[in-house]
Amino acid sequence: MTTFRTHRITASLVLCVLAAPVLAADPAPCTCPDMLDLTNRNRQVKTAIQMYERSLAGWQSAGSAPAANEASRQQFQDESIEPGMIEVRDSRANTASARTGADCRTVVTAPTACLNVLMEQHEQVHRDACRAHVSQGLSVSDVLVDRFGTLDNYAREEIEAYKAERIYIEAALSNLERDCRYTLEFDSTISGSTETTKAEAKTKVDLQAYFPRGVEPLGLQGSKPLNYDTKDIGPPKVMGDPMLKKLFVNCYVASVGSGNVPFEVREAWMMRETQPPYGPLLVMPIYVGETQETRHMKGPRGCPHNSEPVPFWSEQFMLSKERAVPVEADSRSGSPGSAPGVIIADWNFSDASGDEAQKAIRVPCAGWGGMQQRAAAYAGLPTEAPTCEVTNLKIKRKR
Ligand SMILES: [Zn+2]
Repeated sequence: MTTFRTHRITASLVLCVLAAPVLAADPAPCTCPDMLDLTNRNRQVKTAIQMYERSLAGWQSAGSAPAANEASRQQFQDESIEPGMIEVRDSRANTASARTGADCRTVVTAPTACLNVLMEQHEQVHRDACRAHVSQGLSVSDVLVDRFGTLDNYAREEIEAYKAERIYIEAALSNLERDCRYTLEFDSTISGSTETTKAEAKTKVDLQAYFPRGVEPLGLQGSKPLNYDTKDIGPPKVMGDPMLKKLFVNCYVASVGSGNVPFEVREAWMMRETQPPYGPLLVMPIYVGETQETRHMKGPRGCPHNSEPVPFWSEQFMLSKERAVPVEADSRSGSPGSAPGVIIADWNFSDASGDEAQKAIRVPCAGWGGMQQRAAAYAGLPTEAPTCEVTNLKIKRKR
């Protein structure tokens, strides 16, 4: 039984390879880094269909459509269709163009394999209509619009072409929802620059892409509590002459606390560079809750002693980064929208597939300079600001 099955599978595989060797060697044209281009094109295609339908309705109530010549067609395209498509365009997305001439030949200008295949879906409709027209023995002319007569016929063919393209886009987006699942590892250590504090925060989050139909696509999302542990590593060491040491009152400040806070990735997008080699990019907004540390003033007799609740890790983490637009509560994912966020961009991808990337954040200690720098120079130590934040992020696609 098993042997029989194996033979059958082998036989069909051989047939496939023989029938379509090029297809078998090609990777799927649309992969995770194409998600932004795909959703952008989907929005544009939807808009184009609406614009053509609106024009058709207008001509219907007016009783007739204008004659289709190259000038009227171009004017219609520029005035009634293009502005809407430009308005909904995401400026970060790649775009493509294509044209099927009166000779039924298609020329596609597309920067990526994914956009190329979308253009092909669209132009196939024009090509089929063009060939049908030619085979009917009707006028074969250099003028493309001859086959339309009036602009309503042109609009109908465009609607059909955009619908064919859209079917492909929606299928590709469904594939990406299934395939573009990642694990994000987040590991951050932040030391105080003016206090003897060391905070460690860690989490591991699953990310998944959501492209719900009929509403704005959500990109990559995921959440998991972040564990933090903030410790007092004081008191600071006093170096130098023993006599001076005795005089020195070693007062210091340290924050302590541990627990977990919400950690959420929302509307992160994989995309592609807009120039060759169109490599993968990732823009990831991260929203974290406020950590609950207590800041203590400490030291021997003569030092002020008190304590107050002050967030340490989360405040330091937010400080040096680009802020993300605050998000509102999302009823679809059930997540609240209050936590502040930062944007993590400029990831290092290990290759063009976009399956793995890393981001290393190193932040120099704030307030370094002046006396500290002179003291370091005097002691023969490096004078550049020491690093107070070491945060490492890593994403890996799940197989
Ligand atoms: Zn078209």
